[in-house]
Amino acid sequence: MQKENNGTSIEFLGGNNEYRIGANSIMIEHTEKGKEVKRIILDIGALFPPDWVHYDAAIPDMAKYFENPYSEVEKPIDGLFITHCHEDHIGALVYLAAAKYKLPNEYSSGFTRDFILSQMQKNNIPTEFIPNSVAIRQGNTVNITDNFKISPFNVSHSTAGALGFHVLTTENGKNLFGGVFSGDYHLGKVPFGEGFDKEAYKEFISDKFVSHIFVDSTSATMSADNVVTFDQAVENTVREVKKHPEKQVFSAVIARSVQNLAIDLKAAKETGRTVLIDGKGLRQTFNILQSRVRGNDPKLLEIFGIEDGKNFDFNDFVYKADNVESADVYKYLEKYSPSERYMIISGAFAEDKEGRKSSLVLMSEQNKVSYDGNGKVKGKGLSGHPIFTVDSNTLFMLRQRPIESINGDKHRAMVNRLLALGPVVVLNGDTPDTKYQRTGHANKSETEEFIKLTIENCANSKDLLSGKQKVHIVAIHGDVEQLKANEENFKNEQTETMLCMNSDKITVTPEGCEKISGKSFDEQKWICVEASSSTGFGYNDIFVFDLCDKNFVKIDNLYTVVNVNVKAGRRAVKENIYQINKALDKAYELEEQGISASNIEIRRQIRGGKKGHMVESYSYSEIKNLRDNKSKSKNKGKFNRQGGKGRGGR
Ligand SMILES: [Zn+2]
Ligand SMILES: [Zn+2]
Repeated sequence: MQKENNGTSIEFLGGNNEYRIGANSIMIEHTEKGKEVKRIILDIGALFPPDWVHYDAAIPDMAKYFENPYSEVEKPIDGLFITHCHEDHIGALVYLAAAKYKLPNEYSSGFTRDFILSQMQKNNIPTEFIPNSVAIRQGNTVNITDNFKISPFNVSHSTAGALGFHVLTTENGKNLFGGVFSGDYHLGKVPFGEGFDKEAYKEFISDKFVSHIFVDSTSATMSADNVVTFDQAVENTVREVKKHPEKQVFSAVIARSVQNLAIDLKAAKETGRTVLIDGKGLRQTFNILQSRVRGNDPKLLEIFGIEDGKNFDFNDFVYKADNVESADVYKYLEKYSPSERYMIISGAFAEDKEGRKSSLVLMSEQNKVSYDGNGKVKGKGLSGHPIFTVDSNTLFMLRQRPIESINGDKHRAMVNRLLALGPVVVLNGDTPDTKYQRTGHANKSETEEFIKLTIENCANSKDLLSGKQKVHIVAIHGDVEQLKANEENFKNEQTETMLCMNSDKITVTPEGCEKISGKSFDEQKWICVEASSSTGFGYNDIFVFDLCDKNFVKIDNLYTVVNVNVKAGRRAVKENIYQINKALDKAYELEEQGISASNIEIRRQIRGGKKGHMVESYSYSEIKNLRDNKSKSKNKGKFNRQGGKGRGGR
């Protein structure tokens, strides 16, 4: 029998990977003698596998933590704490929910919570598997028990609503582990949301015991003079746009990096242009942002130079589509001439399934500047419009710095194809005046400042400064080189640094703190997910879950979901029957490919009915039996009834 661990242990489930960044996730377990074991997970991200792998995402195999209809839970989790809405921090949530894992309470900022809920709906997750979300803010403390407490604090990042966490555990009423988790952070100014505030942080940390600091290491190797502030980024963007007053402007951004949207909004306002926001993911983020921004937010009034008595309003700079669901690009193009256009689009890295295979996509497929493979631009929106062209009268601002190992090649291919069409293409440069974007991560000197602020202002600062206690610095969120850089950076008299990789554990007991090496990289397993669209009717119509080895090579098929999106209403009947048959054909096809029928589930999403969005699940084996036996049983009728009669379900 396994020996009961006493004290607190911190285990790296993902994020500190041998190679490729992503899938950030840390599990913290606390056991006090005679009391129940309690566990939380900080962040639960996905990782983008390399180009040659056909999976869309990989998540660490964390099945033992959550209840599922097919397996027993080994180590139940008492709460999920999410730092921010980037895919490498929340990405696993949707996939675990799609695979019917019951997730515990999820705690995050309001912005992050809204984003997670929107992701769940976008991916047709049945309501019963959407975790209960609790919005928290600096000043709140979540007590898992009286000896295990989590308190969030505001940090700045490229998205809004980013949090860091302080985690406290005690034993016999005495402080045991006081962990500061920076999350993805920097210390600069951010336009949207709270962001890091030095004085507020000092106050926050003043009553917190600190034994460990876990710091974001993504920009550990970047020098401080390479960082551009928000104001400089705006200034550089405005200068570039003013150089080409007659040209239409495109700015490609990462959909969830909303702080960068503000750079474009301000640049558009200063150059008298009107913004079009296009791309599904970008509009999703923008709509959430818009719903949360207060018009009288003094910070926004100042940033956007809005006169006294007036409110901040996105509609002053952004084209408001008649239909909130779409960007309504046709009307925008008709209304505004090239010199008045400022189009912010997603797909900055040509991230697209087809692009992955053929490298023929300029921007994302959802977006409006995709390529047809014959040298012509085509797309669902802009490019299909008779008066739209990408030519020498176009300025492309490609502000996003690609990550060489993830999208370096695709990005280069995209830039070359763009250049061939004749526009001016501006890349994020190496000198301060050609920088258009602030990185979302702290560099070495900011990290130094953050650690110093923490040590000098925490509740036990006297003990740390006198050398009576040492604080442990643990680098997180980086590749091996970045983690090692931060480990080197912060070795001094007051600190002890620790280098941990996935599956390693830190244990803290009254006797001290030690690192326990976990499974080797070769033994680690990933759950890989393929989320593809078969019917072209909605989002992610098929989810395939495979258990994979370290090279993302399939070991076992775990689960497959075939989604059918149908519309309620009489007129949709024919189309619905067609979609359902298509889904059944797809399920047959998957079975022929060797996926066991019992691992295939068919879900029907019904949209637009009186009851709103509904999801129903069916076992494919059952439907298949019915179809094979040409039975007219009750169940088969049930599957067809709603589509057939176009009525809302009972
Ligand atoms: Zn991030
Ligand atoms: Zn991240």
